[in-house]
Amino acid sequence: MSHTAECIFCKIVAGEIPCLKVFEDDAVLAFLDIGPLADGHVLLIPKRHYERLDAMPADAASELMQHLPRLAAAVLAATGADAYNILVNIGPVAGQLVMHVHVHIIPRANGDGLGYRWSAKQYQGDRGKQLAGQIASRLA
Ligand code: AMP
Ligand code: ZN
Repeated sequence: MSHTAECIFCKIVAGEIPCLKVFEDDAVLAFLDIGPLADGHVLLIPKRHYERLDAMPADAASELMQHLPRLAAAVLAATGADAYNILVNIGPVAGQLVMHVHVHIIPRANGDGLGYRWSAKQYQGDRGKQLAGQIASRLA
């Protein structure tokens, strides 16, 4: 199991600092966020230290994400919420504070004030076509 000495989530995995655990298996751990945006705000993490989702091998990412349906259903059942956001911040510019991959499950309620609608832009001219091509060519 990789472990980064200064990583707070690795310390949680190692049992060096406590968490309010909700689920664990060989590869993943889920626990309550210490600064919840809503009651039942859960973080799902791989036990192994990966800094970024895009640096994870596909099987490790699948091993992590496969838990989302069951975990989300349990969060909804426990909190009585029927809506939630799944959020993964990757990179400091995107708001990643803990550099160990984690998936937020954030229950939502009417009037919770959390918001979500970001202002959408429009592609000008061929820009969309160009970008789709540039991304697709890296996946071919
Ligand atoms: P992010 O901005 O996506 O990197 O989110 C990091 C999240 O980790 C924040 O929501 C923090 O409240 C949460 N967090 C930081 N330290 C702990 C901890 N010791 N136990 C549980 N959650 C934590
Ligand atoms: Zn870590």
